[in-house]
Amino acid sequence: MKILTQRDYEELVQELSRASTAYHTLDAPVMSDVDYDMKMRELRAIETEHPDWKVKHSPTMRVGGPLRDGFKKVTHPRRMTSLEDAFTAEEVRAFFERLKMELPRGFIVEQKIDGLAVSILYRNGRFVQAATRGDGEIGEEVTQNVATVKNIPLMLDAAQVPAEFEVRGEVYLPEASFQKLNADRLAAGDAPFANPRNAAAGSLRQLDPKVTAGRDLKFFAYGIGMDGAPPVATQSALHDFLRRLGFSTPDFTLVDTIDHLAPVIEKTIAARGELGYDIDGLVIKLDSFAEQEIAGFLTRTPRWAIAYKLPAQEKSTILEKVDWQVGRTGVVTPVARLKKIELMGTMVENATLHNMEEIERKGLYLGAEVFVRRAGDVIPEVVSTANATYSPQELAAFSLAGDNVPSFVIIPPKECPECHTPLTRDADKVALRCPNPACPARVVESIIHFASRKGFNIDGLGDKQVEFFHEKGWLKSVADIFRLKDWSMWLMGQKGWGEKSVYNLLDAIEKAKTVKFQNMLFALGIPEVGEFMAGELAKRFTLDELMRATEAELLTIDGVGGVVAQAIVAYFGNEVNRREIERMRADGLNIVYPEKVAFDATLAGLVFVITGELSKPRDEFKQLIESKGGRVTGSVSKKTSYVLAGIDPGSKLDKAKELGIPVLDEAGFNALIAGR
Ligand code: NAD
Repeated sequence: MKILTQRDYEELVQELSRASTAYHTLDAPVMSDVDYDMKMRELRAIETEHPDWKVKHSPTMRVGGPLRDGFKKVTHPRRMTSLEDAFTAEEVRAFFERLKMELPRGFIVEQKIDGLAVSILYRNGRFVQAATRGDGEIGEEVTQNVATVKNIPLMLDAAQVPAEFEVRGEVYLPEASFQKLNADRLAAGDAPFANPRNAAAGSLRQLDPKVTAGRDLKFFAYGIGMDGAPPVATQSALHDFLRRLGFSTPDFTLVDTIDHLAPVIEKTIAARGELGYDIDGLVIKLDSFAEQEIAGFLTRTPRWAIAYKLPAQEKSTILEKVDWQVGRTGVVTPVARLKKIELMGTMVENATLHNMEEIERKGLYLGAEVFVRRAGDVIPEVVSTANATYSPQELAAFSLAGDNVPSFVIIPPKECPECHTPLTRDADKVALRCPNPACPARVVESIIHFASRKGFNIDGLGDKQVEFFHEKGWLKSVADIFRLKDWSMWLMGQKGWGEKSVYNLLDAIEKAKTVKFQNMLFALGIPEVGEFMAGELAKRFTLDELMRATEAELLTIDGVGGVVAQAIVAYFGNEVNRREIERMRADGLNIVYPEKVAFDATLAGLVFVITGELSKPRDEFKQLIESKGGRVTGSVSKKTSYVLAGIDPGSKLDKAKELGIPVLDEAGFNALIAGR
């Protein structure tokens, strides 16, 4: 083991101080929280072992980082502390036991919101000042900015609160707002925030409060300044009190013993992805304020609370390589190959990068340290670089160096990595595409899609098997699936394929021949036809009808626009596709149609607006019009064909008259249906 010197200690102090400033002051972390927390533990251990080395400016002595320039300073009437953290059940148990011996009453377990702490001052019930935690003693004044946070009341019932009343809590950014903010920042050429916490801090500490106002920040209250007697006796009662005043407070549970805690933690972890905002742990506090008072404070943390940290949602790792994958539709997407890390219980080594534009905007390069984040069950994402050596602008300049582009710069391929056909760029200039329909990668992906659960749902024909059969030359296209039995003798000789597994697969294929029409349409992978559209088409057409359908006929279906109609006609017009379908039919395809909605085109192409009171609910008229191929919209425009008007029609009728659009009463409408 390496022997630690005082110099090593001082270097660690410096490294962590730099990280703390980057995180707390600049809102742009240079290391992950996990790394920071672990290094802080190491620092604390060294300081315990060598108390004489300890320096006054050690991060273990401080809360937060230096204050940001440009903000007025506010001295907190009472210090704003941090929390001692626990990463294991043992550490929580030790905390419980320590307090339980002295203090017999219960604990409250609250969500630990991952945002930034602010203190809000109300005078005679009016919002007058807000400040960040800062270094715990002095914070930055952010009154105007906090006033823009919509769920913070600006007026309280003055009769319920003392003349000077301080509320403490966490300003945070919901997950969806974080995603949108980062997308907007990337589009504007700005660096994305590494996580919602840094985004919330960066959004709140804006010199122009108008910027803050546009960021959709939210607030959870969890404490009050308490000089003098508190208005309630416990933290749980404080939640009720704050909620009555108009604040939102985080979810909590009361627990008496440590054994009650484990299920609360489990439940919280399981529900974490669905909250819509980030929590980085649970805060366990003594519920009674009298007991909190007895327990007291340490240098930077209260003795009556502990933060149980949940597994981190983002960590940093190295971007080792970028591979380009060809999808079913030919779109070529970059995939990040990462140095393996564990993230929220799973090992992560791949992440999608969407497209080249995203790589450029995020300033990614090979060997870069990157933040990888997983929110809920979604696929891990490379959010941003950490401590980047090169800026996106420098990387863009490097990429223009012709034959001398440095090897760490990521450049998109010119030809398909699978079939070497020159790639094309979509009209939006973002997506790269392999235009070769026979590209082996495209074929394999389309067969996988065909056999997938929402398609023909063939058990035992997954990615690996399709790739294997394709390599063998047994599956060259989707229709070959129904001829796989011709290869069964060969297959039985292959490693891992016993008689039973071959029969099971052939049996699953045989069964799959009876297929719902909507599943078949989805499985074919017709451009623009997803699950929903396949369902809509299946209700209206048989396969033969659809193969013959014109664009005009398709356009009468709700949700089908010009692009979709064209794509469908082009698909069935293609000789290769028609032949595939005929082959499947010859092999015994049995299509099951949904209950057929009679195709009645009486009102095809007509647009109706319904207004006023009619003899039946409006929805019934809407359904009737749609069943006959018409459409109903909400407002009258030049595109409206008829206005169906009942009693008291209102302004829509005026508008129809103004635009010269024919108006029908119910009798006229019935006549129209009968006569057409
Ligand atoms: P903390 O975030 O671990 O805990 C204290 C804070 O929790 C309080 O100040 C309060 O703001 C908040 N909190 C949320 N919900 C609460 C609730 N229900 N009750 C009470 N408090 C609640 O500690 P900290 O001192 O704010 O910061 C340390 C954290 O910052 C660590 O997680 C660390 O990883 C991170 N950090 C990271 C870096 C980096 O480089 N990545 C640098 C410095 C700090």
